[in-house]
Amino acid sequence: MRVLLFGPPGVGKGTQADLLSKKYNFIKFSMGDILREEVSLSTSLGNKVENYLIRGILVPDNIIFELVKNFLKKNKEAHILFDGFPRTLNQAQNLNKNLTQLGLSFEVALEMHLAEDEIVKRLINRRYCPKCNKIYNYATKPPKTNGVCDHCHTKLIKRSDDDTNTIKKRLQVYEEKTHPLVDYYKSLNVYNQINATGSQEDVFKKISEIIDAYINKR
Ligand code: AMP
Repeated sequence: MRVLLFGPPGVGKGTQADLLSKKYNFIKFSMGDILREEVSLSTSLGNKVENYLIRGILVPDNIIFELVKNFLKKNKEAHILFDGFPRTLNQAQNLNKNLTQLGLSFEVALEMHLAEDEIVKRLINRRYCPKCNKIYNYATKPPKTNGVCDHCHTKLIKRSDDDTNTIKKRLQVYEEKTHPLVDYYKSLNVYNQINATGSQEDVFKKISEIIDAYINKR
């Protein structure tokens, strides 16, 4: 099974992707995590993309397509959860083409929706563990010990793109480039929307119900 999770930055995609991967045995394909790791390791790819991430704008499609193609080839048999990909109509069409070429398809596209003031509040309070990628939020889900990952005890950091100006830019990019995916996935009959207000557990329950419905339909 293949599921796409999309929605504006800060809506909680990463957190839900982790919970869903555990429950349904998905391999998580998080484009943001992959790109951040390349940047932190200063690889040649990381050096190419760093500036895009800092500015909160999208990395060019040719770089993204290469990463996706390699991943899909290696994980043909896997249940996959796509987090933060596709982010443009062009990327969505490219994903369909790649899947079809491999004799694969995807079942669910799920948009997480949240009011903008809540998104900004969540992003400003967000911290993450650079080692295990676990996400925390000082407003809603603080770590047990201030500033330290519960899981691996690494010092938590704030993402460099979680500052007020870059947040505004990322929200604008989302509206312009990613939101049009709604109509595209509606036309393919795979679109679902959930309201991401409420606790992680509430949101997780809503998403699980949608995925379970698809599983039961098969
Ligand atoms: P995220 O962790 O999903 O918020 O992504 C962080 C940043 O990574 C974005 O602001 C973009 O610069 C880049 N990025 C993530 N996913 C994509 C994608 N599918 N296409 C282009 N750039 C992306």
